[in-house]
Amino acid sequence: MANRQSQPQQSTADQSREPDLAIDARDVTVTYRDGTKAVRGVSLRIEKGEFFGFLGPNGAGKTTTIKSLVTLLYPTQGSVRINGYDAATDPQMVRRSIGYMAQETSIDRELTPRENLQLACKLYGVPAEQRDERIETLLDLVDLQDVADTRSEKFSGGMKKRLDAASVLVHRPPVVFLDEPTTGLDPEARLRLWEYFERINEQGTTVFLTTQYLEEADELCDRLSLLQNGQVIATGSPETLKSEFGMDVFEITLENPAEEQIERGVQAIRRIDALEDPIVRTTDDGFAIRSDRIREVASEFFSALDDAGVSVSDFDVRSPTLDDVFLALTDDSSADDDRIGTGMASMSAGEVST
Ligand code: ADP
Repeated sequence: MANRQSQPQQSTADQSREPDLAIDARDVTVTYRDGTKAVRGVSLRIEKGEFFGFLGPNGAGKTTTIKSLVTLLYPTQGSVRINGYDAATDPQMVRRSIGYMAQETSIDRELTPRENLQLACKLYGVPAEQRDERIETLLDLVDLQDVADTRSEKFSGGMKKRLDAASVLVHRPPVVFLDEPTTGLDPEARLRLWEYFERINEQGTTVFLTTQYLEEADELCDRLSLLQNGQVIATGSPETLKSEFGMDVFEITLENPAEEQIERGVQAIRRIDALEDPIVRTTDDGFAIRSDRIREVASEFFSALDDAGVSVSDFDVRSPTLDDVFLALTDDSSADDDRIGTGMASMSAGEVST
């Protein structure tokens, strides 16, 4: 359903620009009036048709960046081109090329889904003779046909989000920006939205998604950038990032997870020279070790713990997740509960040392 628009002419001065990019942001820097440097030199090159994730903890600068990309805010420095159009000189064409789903839903609760979509069609200038067909297609796409004529005020959070997502698509934009669309939703509602985002992407729409949920990005995105303190600290596919930066994790459950036993176990593990600077964190019932050398050294864990008089009741070796990548890339001194995702918060909470 994405309607790929023809590309505008590139001027000679713009030849360094790549017209086939859906999003071409260069050195975007935003300093708010109070001096807060929210975004510090972010560059993004996103191909048409990509599902791109933009991840970071609260306050990292995700919303400020997205606002710069959708022309709600002009960067202090740097440039933005969306679908070939310059956001500074051609903001109208940028706005016509995009759908923007903000964190706060923008639907009118007094109206039904069908009425909300009719209103959106009018606002976006969809020709009257095309409106009915588009509205029916979108109601189908987001599974709201059954309640199309019911007032939206009693809808669940997930239903409201689906309606909001449909309403930003009425003009068939080739690029869609979704700012933390699943925050606060229950797992089932989140899964339904994921299906919907995948569907619009399969139909050719470029999707730019910001999220705090690393597993969401892992599931959906072709590529992603990790943002911290207004700067991109890594970009790549989830698989590449995990294989480049992630470390295997060995999780050990103790028979007696008393504080003294856990501490004794941690000390025993840290004495294994071959581990080379493992990162050890305590858990509710034992501890977890992250290291590049886990699989080679794992057998030594058991004898080291046995020698220390610490009994193991269970263990597990798992591959790195994006949470582990983020942890590996960020300074442990900045660890707090605002770190990305639930896994991230719990991972950092009990960090012992490196
Ligand atoms: P995120 O979306 O990743 O949570 P934001 O872009 O909302 O991050 O915020 C980045 C930083 O900019 C934060 O330190 C935030 O407090 C600050 N900030 C956001 N909006 C404003 C504003 N209007 N004025 C001043 N500072 C702001």
